[in-house]
Amino acid sequence: MVLGYWNKILRIDLTTKKITKEEIDNNTCKLFVGGAGIGAEILWKEVSPKVEPFNSDNKLIFSVGPFQGYPVPGSAKFCITSKSPLTNTYADSSAGASWGPLFKKTGYDVLIIQGKSENPVYIYIKDNEIKIRDARDIWGMDSYQSVDKIRKKIRDPRASVVTIGPAAEKLVKIACIVVDKHSFAGRCGLGAVMGSKNLKAIAVKGSKKVPVSNLSLLENYNHKYLQEIYKASIKSGMRTHGTPGGCITYEGFGDMPIKYWTKDIWPEGAKKLGAPNYTKVLSAKPYPCLYCPVGCHRNIEIKEPAKYKLKGVGPEYETLGMFGTNLLIDDPKAISLANDLCNRLGIDTISAGACVGLAMECYEKGIINRKDTDGIEIRWGDPDILIDLIKQIGNKEGFGSIFSGGALEAAKKIGKNALKLVVHVKGLDIPAHDPRACWGMVPTYATGTRGACHMRGDEEDVEMAGFYIPEIGVTKEKAKFFSLEGKAFLAMKMQDYCSLINSLVLCFMMPAGGDLSFTSILNIFNAITGLDWDVQEAMLSGERIFTLQRLTNLRDGYTKEDDALPPKMYIPAKEGFRTGKIPPVDNLLSEYYELRRWSKDGEPTKEKLQQLGLENFKK
Ligand code: SF4
Repeated sequence: MVLGYWNKILRIDLTTKKITKEEIDNNTCKLFVGGAGIGAEILWKEVSPKVEPFNSDNKLIFSVGPFQGYPVPGSAKFCITSKSPLTNTYADSSAGASWGPLFKKTGYDVLIIQGKSENPVYIYIKDNEIKIRDARDIWGMDSYQSVDKIRKKIRDPRASVVTIGPAAEKLVKIACIVVDKHSFAGRCGLGAVMGSKNLKAIAVKGSKKVPVSNLSLLENYNHKYLQEIYKASIKSGMRTHGTPGGCITYEGFGDMPIKYWTKDIWPEGAKKLGAPNYTKVLSAKPYPCLYCPVGCHRNIEIKEPAKYKLKGVGPEYETLGMFGTNLLIDDPKAISLANDLCNRLGIDTISAGACVGLAMECYEKGIINRKDTDGIEIRWGDPDILIDLIKQIGNKEGFGSIFSGGALEAAKKIGKNALKLVVHVKGLDIPAHDPRACWGMVPTYATGTRGACHMRGDEEDVEMAGFYIPEIGVTKEKAKFFSLEGKAFLAMKMQDYCSLINSLVLCFMMPAGGDLSFTSILNIFNAITGLDWDVQEAMLSGERIFTLQRLTNLRDGYTKEDDALPPKMYIPAKEGFRTGKIPPVDNLLSEYYELRRWSKDGEPTKEKLQQLGLENFKK
């Protein structure tokens, strides 16, 4: 018996409006843990390579893990898995606020949405009450209006609501899913999959308590770790300044994108965007998800100038990187407005920044001109252009509509040399961390199962921020800059570790900004489940989950040729910390394949699949 799970899936078919309840067996929970792991297992079984992302046969899988349902620090997360319209393969995206715990308390571990409703609908789940309701009057509203309207309709201001904005309704492929006007499942365009199903929102409010193995031990751990994480987050600056606190350090290491990955340094820009300037200029305060002692999200207030007046969620580091240094914009207020627009329209700020960066570079290089842009001069460093283009992308109108399929699709449409300029892996734009600075990020990005991602193998924090996990050999000795030694190992371990964390469904900031050790994470897991996992067993699960996602990529048609970085990542810096350095991509990848026991073609060997218990997952 494994505790901490309901062993229940709720399946809602939007075509037939049929609602079914199914069992998940204990073995599946043990093998795939929850969240991204169980999502990957369901996607493998239920979404064949033939299914197009916007086909009604694609599934949208909302899942939680063993940590939800009790006030475990950092447990207010949930995971969404689907086939991505950007990458056409496995994708997951996670978010916080309070949806995860409130969904778990309804009595389910997983919610599968399938089919397509004829008219827009929203779903309301309150313990045993499950309703599919008309959303025609909400369709078209921005994501913040949608949350307010649904809470009003269900007469519960404390219910948690995931919703989409107008961008997802229009099938903009960089559309995100918005939670409670607070948190965002940004990457891979899963909002557009929700839009393709005519599903505007899902509101949840549960009150059930899942049985755990040792409640008093769990409560002791929660109390102890809550204090420890809080203290560590003050010390690291994460509570005071949030992720913007990273700007100056990351720029110093040549890690931030500057002028769409064509420049190497911009210390003045990073100083204006990062802490302490950000915190002061935007009156920023922590905005924690439920049960969170860190509060990395920012609540900001801008009173002047009037055109940037705003009160609400502030931009994260990634947004400052992609809208700021990436576009040569150094005004945190302008970026905050652009961020707010994205949140309301429901688009991923990383991919939006990549699209605008590509537009600015193409314009500068004469690949596009005023005739293509409806007369707009797309200049670097102009916040008004950023804001205009976000509106056009999100509303799929004007010149911006060329980006409604993402930067890669736009580059294909633009033609000429645009394809050489676009910076992506498998169709997903590289986030605001440069693999030329942290070489462990080369295999992490190249083999990323959802495309280029810094959160599915947070190796850059190991190299730049001193985030070590001694239990798994992720140590300072292996984290030397510009050294080949140990980098493939770090990439592999961090991918497996992050796969586990995303399947436990724990916020990554608990270990990375709050110093929660791997041993402490396992203490919580064992107290909940009654299992007695050690580090090795837990990491085997992480590896199994990552490998299953890889198998899905391969089954969907990806090959080792797609384990590649874009051309710009082979250009050495002319100035700054990484002057003259280029990562040895081929060496890193061949060592990585060997460590993973993958064939030269990048396929997991039969022995590896047997070791992971994945021998039945065949292409
Ligand atoms: S650290 Fe940030 S993302 Fe994580 S739970 Fe807290 S507020 Fe949410």
